[in-house]
Amino acid sequence: MDAPLNHAEFRFYEELNDFLAPERRYRGFDYAFPGAPAIKDPIEALGVPHTEVDLILVDGESVPFGHRLRGGERVAVYPVFEAFDLTPVYRLRPRPLREPRFVLDVHLGRLAAYLRLLGFDTAYRNDYQDIEIAGIALHEQRIVLTRDIGLLKHNAISHGAFLRATQPMRQLREVLDRFQLEGMLQPFARCALCNGVVELVDKTGIRDEVPAKVYAQCEDFSRCTHCHRLFWPGGHYERMKQQFSSVGVQLP
Ligand SMILES: [Zn+2]
Repeated sequence: MDAPLNHAEFRFYEELNDFLAPERRYRGFDYAFPGAPAIKDPIEALGVPHTEVDLILVDGESVPFGHRLRGGERVAVYPVFEAFDLTPVYRLRPRPLREPRFVLDVHLGRLAAYLRLLGFDTAYRNDYQDIEIAGIALHEQRIVLTRDIGLLKHNAISHGAFLRATQPMRQLREVLDRFQLEGMLQPFARCALCNGVVELVDKTGIRDEVPAKVYAQCEDFSRCTHCHRLFWPGGHYERMKQQFSSVGVQLP
């Protein structure tokens, strides 16, 4: 005969409800489970990736992901919220990575280019496998950005974010807000195409590499130290500036 199931009451707060089945959103509900699982397991089984969770209260006490449920508890699960002062409680997120670096899922190519343009070290390929992304995140201490909830359930991933926006510029805004990057922008410090560091170059050395008209009109040239492409403020620059300013990012 099977052992009887244990029960706990769960309630999820704020945007964590987006991950739940509709009948479980914004209300307490009963969850039945065998044995004494670490609390991370039922949370992910209910659809919420651990990277989105910042605080778990069990009967009013904050607990880590490894806390074992035994039955009869009331569980409250809160998202990452930066604005509240929660210092006395047990924050689940490891301290923010000091110099935020990213690895992006295959469907986020435009966002990768935007983050690089703002100077953030951003690993991206359109043929990454999930397991590669998890490995890169672990070994290079990168934050995973994705719209795939399943990817964020990899145990190797400690820092990650599920992006709600589908439009790349809105995704950029979401990332800047979520990781509080506003003060860290270094526009044009990286190559949007390859993530290489971009450096200013002496104009006299590149005369043969650009059209004569551009050479005559332009003073500021820079080069990617990795793929060696040359950059200068061309005609598309104003349009790009407008796009970024539509989400509150002012380029110089
Ligand atoms: Zn490059």
